Amino acid sequence: MKHVYDENQILFSRIRLKKGTKAYEDFYRKNPAYQQGDDAIRGDDFEEGMKKSASFQALFNPIYQSSMPLLKSMHDTVEAMPVNKKRASMPKHFHENIKEITKLYGATDVGIVQLKDEHYYAKHGLTSASLGKDHVNVPIKKQYKTAIVYMIPMDKDYINRSPHYEEMLETMTAYQDIAVIGAGLAMYLKGIGFKSMFQSIEYYETPLVPLAYDAGLGEIGMSNHIIHPIYGDRIRLGAVLTTLELKADQPIDFGLESFCKRCGLCVMNCPMQSIKPQKRIVNGRTFYKFDDQSCYKMWKNVGNDCGVCIQSCPYAQGIDLKTQAWMRNQPDRIDQFLKEYLEKTGPSRRYQIKTPLPIVKEHEDDERNND
Ligand code: SF4
Ligand code: SF4
Repeated sequence: MKHVYDENQILFSRIRLKKGTKAYEDFYRKNPAYQQGDDAIRGDDFEEGMKKSASFQALFNPIYQSSMPLLKSMHDTVEAMPVNKKRASMPKHFHENIKEITKLYGATDVGIVQLKDEHYYAKHGLTSASLGKDHVNVPIKKQYKTAIVYMIPMDKDYINRSPHYEEMLETMTAYQDIAVIGAGLAMYLKGIGFKSMFQSIEYYETPLVPLAYDAGLGEIGMSNHIIHPIYGDRIRLGAVLTTLELKADQPIDFGLESFCKRCGLCVMNCPMQSIKPQKRIVNGRTFYKFDDQSCYKMWKNVGNDCGVCIQSCPYAQGIDLKTQAWMRNQPDRIDQFLKEYLEKTGPSRRYQIKTPLPIVKEHEDDERNND
């Protein structure tokens, strides 16, 4: 039987439930296993735990805080735009054109998925609060035929400073960039006559990892992230759902499963042991066990979204395609690659950089001796 995704089960929906409300009582009556752990992390947003001075936060937090109102205005604009009644006629190879159009809007890699019911969440959760949406538990209509799924890479200099402030700056601005691409593409598709909507950090009708896997953007790693062959999981994903029918892509296999089996660096480096090497199969796709509550505890401890697992992945640091082909599904060669890799990283087993980037340095709050 197919697993049915429900957005209410996502950690960011669960921890926004307010104790004492009917929604809270209803959810935990049906899902008692989450309650104790969720209650321990409920409350302030993780950013409140930031170990930075008030003067630092006053200067730098607005860099990413502006993205929420911007996102809301993009959502409102796309939603309000009518679909052009005069539909354009579609050339046979339009699936190729649309990928180039998506890249023109800013995407680095693009794939296409023919949507099935199992891709969708059954119901909306609480994750779109900042868009002013009040649709908790409202069933999702499943009205689209196709997902155009795309990615952009995140900057290595920023990500390699995780779990420090720069990692969050890069993540949040990447979410904004992903939304700008999605809003542009959704408006374009409406303009040529097809109902369309973009997904964003605050609005999802489908989980993105299964979509990105089906679109051939990467394989699912032990971190449960999509690992792109060139950028690893140092990426952000986006998707536009549309009624336009397009030729779909297929999942890719570049030997990640056998690589992860020998590697396990995300498991070893996770400060909370949130990533588990045991497999779980969901709707035919291989994922790994994961403890989202302990992961979020780390986010609250450091006051940003950690990202150590992203930085730990050798693919996020870049493995040239020739080396990938040489070691593909060859345990001895993977071990040889990893030995040389770890000689370069040293005992930290990752490329962590402790010096601040110019964007935040020269500030009294530069000390990074406590990790
Ligand atoms: S974000 Fe940090 S705590 Fe969460 S899984 Fe990754 S490394 Fe672990
Ligand atoms: S760090 Fe290693 S085990 Fe984890 S996802 Fe990347 S390749 Fe797989």
